[in-house]
Amino acid sequence: MYRIMQCWLVALLLVCNAAQAQAPARELKTQKKVLLLMGTRFELVAVSEDEELANKAIEAGIAEIQRIEALISEWQPTSQTSAINRSAGGMPVPVDEELYELIRRSLRISELTGGAFDISWAAADKVWKFDGSMKQMPSPEAIENSIRHIGYQKIQLIPETHSVFLKEQAMKIGFGAIGKGYAANRARDLMRRMGIQSGVVNAAGDLITWGKQADGQPWYIGIADPADKEKVFSWLTADHTAVVTSGSYEKYAEINGKRYGHIIDPRTGYPVSGLKSVTIICPDAELADALATAVFVLGKEEGLYLVNQLKGVECLLVTDENEMVTSDQLHLHYYKNKPASAKAPIPAKTSKI
Ligand code: ADP
Ligand code: MG
Repeated sequence: MYRIMQCWLVALLLVCNAAQAQAPARELKTQKKVLLLMGTRFELVAVSEDEELANKAIEAGIAEIQRIEALISEWQPTSQTSAINRSAGGMPVPVDEELYELIRRSLRISELTGGAFDISWAAADKVWKFDGSMKQMPSPEAIENSIRHIGYQKIQLIPETHSVFLKEQAMKIGFGAIGKGYAANRARDLMRRMGIQSGVVNAAGDLITWGKQADGQPWYIGIADPADKEKVFSWLTADHTAVVTSGSYEKYAEINGKRYGHIIDPRTGYPVSGLKSVTIICPDAELADALATAVFVLGKEEGLYLVNQLKGVECLLVTDENEMVTSDQLHLHYYKNKPASAKAPIPAKTSKI
């Protein structure tokens, strides 16, 4: 049984009152940097006794995210992903182990989600534009044509040569639904390896935490009411956890007064409706990112069914009717029990740089 509550659209606030932390018990300090990476507001937080090390680790995390972006971006013509897309229907393209493995994991998630998550959705990006430029519905023929070229089964991995081949010329892949999660995982790994005992990598609400805050408290992730974005109405504590939200309220096209969000149902070629936001909570930011998109496509019933089958994965959904639904094992804390340290929430998902 899942719990149902009425609420407004959910946004996430990362509650980390690092700046206001009381006298640190073990002289732990918190360093933080906010900047634009992968077209998104990234925030990197490092807790350490060694301030210089914390700053170094943050810079290394940033360089790592930039490196990943240069490798996987479908927008940068020099990326290996762009090379794969250019050779669609022509030749297999040898790629780095890292990209090869990212594609392999993406295909596994496609299988797990019955194709709801599909990196080859990008064949539809010729039809839909979610940057405010589109004012007319695409023709049904154009949509029909685009879905003919979507299909993760037509992405071929060739292990002998570490190559990737898209079988049809009009195919295209894109990592918009998994790349930020992957980058967050990698930045976290690197910072930990450098000796940072706790921190946060937060890509505009797609975040992963490890360890505890400098004052020994856990990281608090607040669930906010966007009608009053400063108001955290419930929260969860996060230790070695990723919390990732997909929403239809950020990137969308508005046509004849109706909003079309940026997640495409690979089966129909149309933007998905039914849910306003999907938050996935699990230890892995990449998986959480991909699943958030998949659950968006699957919708409330099927999405919940999937999440409830997966050990260690929880979710929180908000429907178009502002109904809030959680998976079986998700336990939110309510605002009336708010910890003292949750005074200064830093807006995550909703804020712009
Ligand atoms: P956000 O960018 O808000 O975190 P998502 O992680 O859900 O949201 O990613 C949405 C992006 O994923 C879209 O902008 C697009 O690039 C890509 N995408 C859209 N539909 C799909 C799909 N069905 N499967 C995989 N990727 C998708
Ligand atoms: Mg996603």
